[in-house]
Amino acid sequence: MRVIDQIQKADTTLFSFELLPPLKGHNIERIYRSIDPLIEFNPSFINVTYHQEEVVYKKHPSGLLEKKTIRKRPGTVAISAAIKYKYPSVEVVPHLICGGFSKEDTEYALIDFHYLGINNLLVLRGDPPKGIRNFIHEPDGHAYASGLVKQIMDMNNGNYLDEDLRNTMATDFCVGVAGYPGKHIEAPNFAYDLKYLKEKIDAGAEYIITQMFFDNKSYFEFVKMCRDDGITVPIIPGLKPIATMNDITTLPQVFNIDIPEELVKEIQKCNTNKDAFKAGIEWTTNQSKELVEFGVPVLHYFTIGISENIRQIASAIF
Ligand code: FAD
Repeated sequence: MRVIDQIQKADTTLFSFELLPPLKGHNIERIYRSIDPLIEFNPSFINVTYHQEEVVYKKHPSGLLEKKTIRKRPGTVAISAAIKYKYPSVEVVPHLICGGFSKEDTEYALIDFHYLGINNLLVLRGDPPKGIRNFIHEPDGHAYASGLVKQIMDMNNGNYLDEDLRNTMATDFCVGVAGYPGKHIEAPNFAYDLKYLKEKIDAGAEYIITQMFFDNKSYFEFVKMCRDDGITVPIIPGLKPIATMNDITTLPQVFNIDIPEELVKEIQKCNTNKDAFKAGIEWTTNQSKELVEFGVPVLHYFTIGISENIRQIASAIF
């Protein structure tokens, strides 16, 4: 079922989570091992992230550096199909990004998803590859997520890039997009970011999943600003429990987010990563309880390869 239909049919807060595809060289069992402990909580959908190529420099014995472009994680088509057919009661939501894709590459990816019966997507611009400062789109690709949403909506109307095609089948993709309670790092201010968030919704996106946040106040304020700006679609909070002592400094660097002082103090009191893991579960459980009370449509957890903390939180909430 389309994610938006699940949300509209539900009378309680739904549960969903995001998975990171395993590194190249591992098998699908690793994904199943992340999903299995969470299945008893009836997830409505599982997102699968997509990662663009990275630039790495390999040092040769001569001292010369060789620049190489590598993909550390396989694509999402095969993983999404494996999840869909192993867990038929759960929808799979592959992430589709602009980075590294021409419009034609995108169309082929969409055709593959359509053949496989995968009709939910989270549509993103993507970050610049590691080691590169600015996002650069492919010469015939999309510069922003809104362009990608429009391309998908064209296919939903039966319009493919090849204008000579006749009797094309319209697809039925339900598209979600990203939103940033702390504003996106490149946006000069909130109003600017909201303008372009609205552009994605106007293009056809049906819901928003937020970047992780650790202070519910920032989510409540974000929802209010969206509503004041005429954005009426469901806004799904994205949550990530702190899992190690280092997370309080690495997460802000990677995701450009703030961590509230109270949580920082809790983690700084910990002597081991095990203590930090426990404190992270407690914090996110409390966040989740308050969000359920607020009436959020879905609680969406970023697993980043760890399920045990999400399992403990889900068992307290669902
Ligand atoms: P956009 O909506 O395109 O916005 C990017 C920036 O450009 C913003 O600052 C916006 O204000 C501005 N902007 C937008 N449109 C215009 C315009 N027309 N003119 C001028 N400025 C404009 N990244 C991955 O690589 N893979 C993933 O799987 C992935 N999953 C994610 C899941 C979630 C829930 C979230 C919140 C993020 C995820 N990301 C992922 C990260 C995301 O790709 C980055 O944050 C990226 O930098 C922005 O993506 P976006 O879709 O929000 O971009």
